[in-house]
Amino acid sequence: MFIDGERLGAAGRATHRVINPATGAALAELPLATAADLDRALDTAARGFRRWRAASAAERSRVLAGAAHLMRERIERIATIATLEEGKTLPEARGELHMAAALFDFYAGEAQRIYGRVLVRPAGMLSRVMKEPVGPVAAFCPWNFPIGNPARKLGAAIGAGCSIIIKPPEEAPRSALEVLDCLLDAGLPPDVASCVFGVPDQVSRHLLASPVIRKVSFTGSVAVGKHLMKLAAEGSKRTTMELGGHGPVLIFEDADLSKALDLLVAHKFRNAGQVCISPTRFYVQQGIYERFAKEFAARAAKLNVGDGLDAASQMGPMANLRRPDAIEAFVADALKAGARIAAGGERGGGTHRGGYFFRPTVLTDVPLEARVMNEEPFGPVALMRPFKTFEEAVEQANRLPYGLAAYCFTENGRRALQLGDAIESGMIGINTTMIGGADSPFGGVKDSGHGSEDGPEGLEACLVLKSIHQA
Ligand code: NAD
Repeated sequence: MFIDGERLGAAGRATHRVINPATGAALAELPLATAADLDRALDTAARGFRRWRAASAAERSRVLAGAAHLMRERIERIATIATLEEGKTLPEARGELHMAAALFDFYAGEAQRIYGRVLVRPAGMLSRVMKEPVGPVAAFCPWNFPIGNPARKLGAAIGAGCSIIIKPPEEAPRSALEVLDCLLDAGLPPDVASCVFGVPDQVSRHLLASPVIRKVSFTGSVAVGKHLMKLAAEGSKRTTMELGGHGPVLIFEDADLSKALDLLVAHKFRNAGQVCISPTRFYVQQGIYERFAKEFAARAAKLNVGDGLDAASQMGPMANLRRPDAIEAFVADALKAGARIAAGGERGGGTHRGGYFFRPTVLTDVPLEARVMNEEPFGPVALMRPFKTFEEAVEQANRLPYGLAAYCFTENGRRALQLGDAIESGMIGINTTMIGGADSPFGGVKDSGHGSEDGPEGLEACLVLKSIHQA
């Protein structure tokens, strides 16, 4: 934990054991915040906000750009920590760090372009519209992107002139602290950003009950997001909610199949499928369904599953013991409902017996009633069903209350246009799986949440408007 420039140790505090998911071995004992620690973090955030809102755009920008530089310099150390804590392969952890550094660079630029406007008024009158930082932010980060998610929340708040308290995941604490260290070493005043760990429900209730906090940013499950929105409503706090998805993939008979397979197999099993924008429900037009499912399954079965630190591994373990348990239950339920296994379907594949490994899994002909067709699996599972018509495909894509990421593969330009219009989703990839970027808003619709991170919109989400009319 890091509050007001002080690193707090375990003395007198409960702890959480941090585990390497590839081996099951303990990495560290993490001290958890007491109520007094959280009060101190709130006081610090109030003080840090008074200071940072007055900082020049150039100073905010310098800190973010400096941190981006340090992250790149420290890439091997930080990526290795993320792999040890979360399980993803080292190349994936490096990629996550590069994305986080690119976002800091982008916000370093945007922080210098927070423009207001002057309204046209009669002579002698001045009406200004100003953008101001919303205030101290409480941010809750999930375990699946232990570098990138804290960076997203820190970068937006710091660029906008807010102070922030982050609660990264207790499962992967050091990764977030490394990002924070880069900001502090680049000159961020220590009272602008604090980092606490704890029992999530206790921490969020405590922070959200305080009038100091003016904005809540959360990435995680729909259920927890709705709970936090209710708590935020009590204090009329602004919210940004990124609550996961159930990514539909529509593959039409005229698609470039080998390109689709290359992109989708890699994207599906990235981070062992524990990604909110993971492609999950594959609807394949009937003429190519059997062939696509067979080739996808053959490629999935060949993936090398192992410790993320091992250069030969193409997919790491799941991040915690809850995930293989959950995926096993999803698969059993789908089989009972009538689905067939084309690849995987069981734990294992890893090199260490104590690791939380699950084989890359492909289920075909999955009935709509199966639980996994309705709830986010958050694991290495691809679900396949055939479709006949465009209308049927779109209806299926929009069937669930989620709306985060969707993917379509077709070489027909007119159809591509129509798909872009018809699919209810915050992000759509047409013949691509690259649906994000530092300059591009990231967020969902419907139960997948509201508000955007990244892009100019990520910074805007930490700003409020004030109009001043002066005669
Ligand atoms: P969970 O729902 O208990 O927790 C999800 C995240 O929210 C975790 O980071 C957790 O620390 C945090 N959290 C939980 N209760 C909280 C509270 N009261 N206040 C503040 N934070 C709280 O489940 P989990 O087992 O950690 O993850 C399972 C599910 O969460 C997945 O199946 C997936 O649907 C979702 N998830 C989504 C994302 C995403 O990127 N949108 C990331 C991680 C997990």
